[in-house]
Amino acid sequence: MRYIGCHLSASEGNLAMVRTAQKIGANTFAFFTRNPRGSYAKKEDPADCAAAMEEWKRLGFGPLVAHGAYTMNLCTADPDARAFAASVLRDDLRRMAALPGNFYNFHPGSHVGQGIETGISQIADALSLALKPAYPVTVLLETMAGKGSEIGGKFEQLRDIIDAVGSDDLGVCLDTCHVWDAGYDIVHSLDEVLLEFDRVVGLKRLRALHLNDSKNSLSSHKDRHECIGHGSLGLTTFESIINHPALAGLPMILETPNDLLGYEKEIALLRQMEQ
Ligand code: FE
Ligand code: FE
Ligand code: ZN
Repeated sequence: MRYIGCHLSASEGNLAMVRTAQKIGANTFAFFTRNPRGSYAKKEDPADCAAAMEEWKRLGFGPLVAHGAYTMNLCTADPDARAFAASVLRDDLRRMAALPGNFYNFHPGSHVGQGIETGISQIADALSLALKPAYPVTVLLETMAGKGSEIGGKFEQLRDIIDAVGSDDLGVCLDTCHVWDAGYDIVHSLDEVLLEFDRVVGLKRLRALHLNDSKNSLSSHKDRHECIGHGSLGLTTFESIINHPALAGLPMILETPNDLLGYEKEIALLRQMEQ
């Protein structure tokens, strides 16, 4: 049994998301902790969180993968904006404590001309501060396409952040579209890419996947998601991923351009590939 799910709308509430997930054949899901293109966060609802977690347990779902806002750039050049991003991260982790045992994934950030090394140290500083209180949440750095000055397009950059923070509560979420766009050929060399990940970061840090096909070619550094089987990755790549022993047990989240019905069909498609 694989944990497969998709992005759901957090505006319906946590318990409603668990129910929606079950309805469409998912047994995990992702949601934005706040407006993905802003910073507005909904009022907290502890009763809804508790009810959601009870249902989550009862249904035997895999870890949920909450997603931080795209606008949260921990290595932006302006110190005030950077401090604000760091406070958003701290607030997100504090909020995740109401959904214990789950994951919080975010895009490491864009150094906007400051340089990769400076970017990495600013991200690590914000994470070290945010992880000081022991929240029951695992924080995942997402592998990125390497668009513009994005950090996380190379496994080494993620390792450097993880090494600088030195916390067991830090892992990686591998996005299939992003790694392909970044230049890791998971179509022809999935085993080699995973070996490379193991060598550089360590497979024990790999805690979740984003399943997306890509509109673009290897090393395009574009980050344009496509529906499963309709892009340059293709169905057989996803069949290999779904059944890869090194990836067994990890929550796999669809972020494809779909409505709920489209997601339901894609989840069914992936489940048919399970061996
Ligand atoms: Fe993402
Ligand atoms: Fe992603
Ligand atoms: Zn993306």
